[in-house]
Amino acid sequence: MIIQANSFAKLNLFLKVYGKRPDGFHDIISIMQSVGLYDTLTLESVDGGGKNISITCNDAGVPTDEKNIVWKAADIFSESIGLTDYNLKIHIEKNIPVMGGLAGGSSDAAATLIALKKLWKPDFHDEKLFKIGAKVGSDVPFCLLGGTALVQGRGEVLEPLPEGVHAKCPGGAFLLVMPPVRVETGPAYDAVDASRIVEARKWNTLTEEYRTIRDGWISAIRSGEFAYLFHNDFEAPVFGYRHELEAIHTHLRNHAGHAVMSGSGSTMFAWFPLYTDAFDAKDSYLPLAGEKVVVALPVGHGVRIEGEISNI
Ligand code: ATP
Repeated sequence: MIIQANSFAKLNLFLKVYGKRPDGFHDIISIMQSVGLYDTLTLESVDGGGKNISITCNDAGVPTDEKNIVWKAADIFSESIGLTDYNLKIHIEKNIPVMGGLAGGSSDAAATLIALKKLWKPDFHDEKLFKIGAKVGSDVPFCLLGGTALVQGRGEVLEPLPEGVHAKCPGGAFLLVMPPVRVETGPAYDAVDASRIVEARKWNTLTEEYRTIRDGWISAIRSGEFAYLFHNDFEAPVFGYRHELEAIHTHLRNHAGHAVMSGSGSTMFAWFPLYTDAFDAKDSYLPLAGEKVVVALPVGHGVRIEGEISNI
């Protein structure tokens, strides 16, 4: 059987980073949004004994061995169902920039898990898929879910918003500006830590803050006016050592009226309540340093199965 799946990029419309926890992860509160920019994965289960996962990818910068998060996803999934004898061929066609703050790897992993559930048909509910996803990576549970969600913990605690951006503001679009720059997440967190004295947060104060953020976002999305709430704690610390990104941020803000970075960078974006305005802004944008510009609609899913071919 062959399965093809599209895995969608995510934007952080809002991202606050709190102190480092004893387990080494940081607590975050974020509003995540899936957008219509996606990779395409083709998975095939072929005959052959033992355990074999072979990965190919159109982007030479993406690892094709066990360092690929898709490999990790298949490995953890197979272990969780006690499958030791399988032979998988996976091709990844990348469109989402690598290390662009768009969770490209995590969304490939989510697509792999959903495709493997269809391929191997284990007897379990989606709840287990989310648990497996959280083991694979912090952003994987959101990518399994998609749409608009509030995220907390290290990224694995999700609250989906049924009245998300895709549902309430269907005529709007994001303008994505993607610099040809990769930002590693680890050093970006170090820069956040170094940039301020983070107070030890008590969980109840974080819960109160979560509720305030949540209520503000729900009513802003309902009104269709939410760009004024865009925020990212990584911006100033990352711009401190990646000056070219600050220049692009200013350039986009001057062009679109506002700008915010996604994740730890490097992608920046702006929101247009009318998608035609987003296309106009794309056409008139003059790149500063080779950045790629695309218009992406908000979507309500993180993964979409495109096709299945059986019995060949
Ligand atoms: P996030 O927004 O979750 O911080 P990102 O979009 O900035 O993630 P990714 O594109 O997911 O970053 O890549 C992060 C790292 O993962 C890179 O070092 C890359 O080589 C590695 N990687 C492993 N598997 C993949 C994959 N399938 N696609 C992209 N990168 C992958």
